Amino acid sequence: MKTFDEAVELLRAFLRIDTTNPPGNEEKAAQFLEDIIKSEGLTAELYTAAPGRANLLSRIKGKQDGKPIILLGHIDVVPAREDEWTVHPFGAEVRDGYLYGRGAVDMKSQVICQLLAFLDLAHRGITPGRDIIFLATCDEEVGGANGVEYMLHKVPDLGDASFVLSEGGCLIEENGLVHAQVSVTEKKLSQFIIRAKGRGGHGSMPHGDNANEKIVAASQRILSQAWPLKSMPVTSAYLGGVLKGRKIGGAKFPPLKEALKVKKWRDLFEGNEIYNAILRNTVTLTVLKGGEKVNVIPSESSAYFDARLLPSETHEQFFKKIRQLAGKDVEIERIGEKISTPGPSRYNTIYFQGIKDCVASLGKDVLVLPFVTTGATDLRYFRDLGIPSYGFFPVTLTKEEHMRMHGKDERISLENIREGLEGCKGIVDFLASDRIP
Ligand SMILES: [Zn+2]
Repeated sequence: MKTFDEAVELLRAFLRIDTTNPPGNEEKAAQFLEDIIKSEGLTAELYTAAPGRANLLSRIKGKQDGKPIILLGHIDVVPAREDEWTVHPFGAEVRDGYLYGRGAVDMKSQVICQLLAFLDLAHRGITPGRDIIFLATCDEEVGGANGVEYMLHKVPDLGDASFVLSEGGCLIEENGLVHAQVSVTEKKLSQFIIRAKGRGGHGSMPHGDNANEKIVAASQRILSQAWPLKSMPVTSAYLGGVLKGRKIGGAKFPPLKEALKVKKWRDLFEGNEIYNAILRNTVTLTVLKGGEKVNVIPSESSAYFDARLLPSETHEQFFKKIRQLAGKDVEIERIGEKISTPGPSRYNTIYFQGIKDCVASLGKDVLVLPFVTTGATDLRYFRDLGIPSYGFFPVTLTKEEHMRMHGKDERISLENIREGLEGCKGIVDFLASDRIP
């Protein structure tokens, strides 16, 4: 087993490998992991989907055939603008007890913690009940075509897994209270562009056929739509736990369905960006393009929307509404992939119970609650196949730490790394144990 200091040095070296996606170039990072695995005497295989785009798989053979358990992690990261950071995003500097770097939270730390727990299992000569697969993929941040999607074609038994563990939840510290979010589902990505054409012309002579004005009017209608707040079993269980005992106007938090009928509770949900996002479809205007010169009426204009649907909603219903709102003056183009129905994973499972027990055994007396990730992760591919797939990394993050994830000065505390190593070891030991049927 690696010492804590060795683990931190490994993670630092891993963070220094720039895997910004696009373009990705994850091959070096995959080779880095391959070297570690091989130096421990295990085998690992690289799967190169495109030049420079590699995935890595290593397996500890179990007692039974079939239905492996997968420890999944992506090795690409989102871009970082060096001028916005106070340290170099790929310098892996340690300052005041924090390790800084793009990928520190999303999700190179979890990859290393899962890897070391996996190697430790092999090292102790433990034969798990089922095969345990360590899978590191590329391309997650841009949709996963070269990553998980490619691997599901190349290694058929991945699609027949009994359980997948990856990112999406952790222990969250809010107002001094800690609870664990185990992500069992996620919002559906439903991005689109609206485009308008019009007649060019001189800004001094408006003529009523201005592409920008059409986009502004259509965008305004789309953004004014109040998508209803809806209860799902997962959010009902989650908020029921987090808001237990909370009072408004002397009344305790009722079941979510009831709370949604009460304006004061709705105001609380809408005022909290996480509660709001897990209770309704969201539509965010992220890019506007149109016009270049102040005195010229543009003939083309467009707006990009990042929409995220509740897992229970369909793309078809959603776009029917969007088309209605957008009106006849604009065209709508759906973008991105169209995975249709990643339904929630069940959470009355031995896997959920096992994670609960692991959290408790870390000496943490906290609620462990099912959660909806608001972003999209590679787990949707597995949920789409009906495989119980949870997002959980056993580290305690504050909301602020969490928000740095795709932002500037992403970092993880050394204390968190210690927690992550210990917690992943506990979870992997559980997954190898005879508690798994
Ligand atoms: Zn991620």
